[in-house]
Amino acid sequence: MSKAFSNLLKHIDKLPHTEKERVYQWVRRYVEPSSSVGGRLIKEMRETRFKEGFECPHCESKHVVRFGNYNGRQRYRCKCCSKTFTDTTNTVLYRTRKGDEWITFVDCLFKGYSLRKSAEIVGVTWVTLFNWRHKLLNALKQMDFEQFEGIVEVDETYFLYSQKGTRGITERKARKRGGKSKHRGVSHEQVCVLVARDRTKATVSKVACMGRVVKNKVDNMIGSKLTPDNVLVTDAWRAYKTYAKEKGLEHYSIKSNDGKHVIKGLYHIQNVNGLHSRMKQWINRFKGVATKYLDNYLAWFLFVDSRSNESTKHNIKELLLSSFVFEMTDTYDSLRLSKFLV
Ligand SMILES: [Zn+2]
Repeated sequence: MSKAFSNLLKHIDKLPHTEKERVYQWVRRYVEPSSSVGGRLIKEMRETRFKEGFECPHCESKHVVRFGNYNGRQRYRCKCCSKTFTDTTNTVLYRTRKGDEWITFVDCLFKGYSLRKSAEIVGVTWVTLFNWRHKLLNALKQMDFEQFEGIVEVDETYFLYSQKGTRGITERKARKRGGKSKHRGVSHEQVCVLVARDRTKATVSKVACMGRVVKNKVDNMIGSKLTPDNVLVTDAWRAYKTYAKEKGLEHYSIKSNDGKHVIKGLYHIQNVNGLHSRMKQWINRFKGVATKYLDNYLAWFLFVDSRSNESTKHNIKELLLSSFVFEMTDTYDSLRLSKFLV
């Protein structure tokens, strides 16, 4: 090892963690030449987006012609509405010159870094990153599947209602849960997150309502994905029992207070409960999430959890490609001013 090199390592060793990350990102770009990584990514996204041929993002017409270059990007013009667009118009990559910053940013997402820390690492402002994150998470939120298969575990968990980030409002203090049943201590200040997962890991994980979960909320969340072949497994809460009966579904309820957690060696809600505890632990790092953004965080968690929190090239690309197919028209203001509605 040369003297210069060992000195360099010593210097790096003394840097704060955020700066070490920047060194890492810099080296990574150097090792994998940036133009090719970002360029390839954009090419691939373009092909995913227009896999059925070009379509105008303004009017959906297919009469599209090439129309010169704009900021180094191929530009197109629609013969129907005369508007122009590029490969990235209305997508998460709109107005970014390269895909590289996005790769760094998604790496930070996988690592669960705060906005502030990620902004420093990526080298963009906090507001820009706030925007990027919400665009990406809104897109992730729209990822969906058709139907559950076989056994479906359903259980809910609660988060305290929070208006974090809203000026002039102080957060209320958490109340202690009492009693044996989690339902006994649930107040209307608590946000109910319903999680349903089948054994192929197809998962719904979203905010259901304020306070205890009720039958019609369960139906809103998962009704359209259930078929008569599904078997529901839940805890002993009566809303589930009534729901399963009305839907005519086979149903097993786990009564946690009699100590029996598995019925017939197969029916349990341990996968969903495991997901709940990983979810709580993961969300805790953000020290309170505004309720109106909770669904975004849930989609974020679900994605990284399903990839074992591994920030591999493949996973980063997959996240970007899947979000690229959804069109985004949100702005910073429309996101900030949005309200929490159930
Ligand atoms: Zn058009």
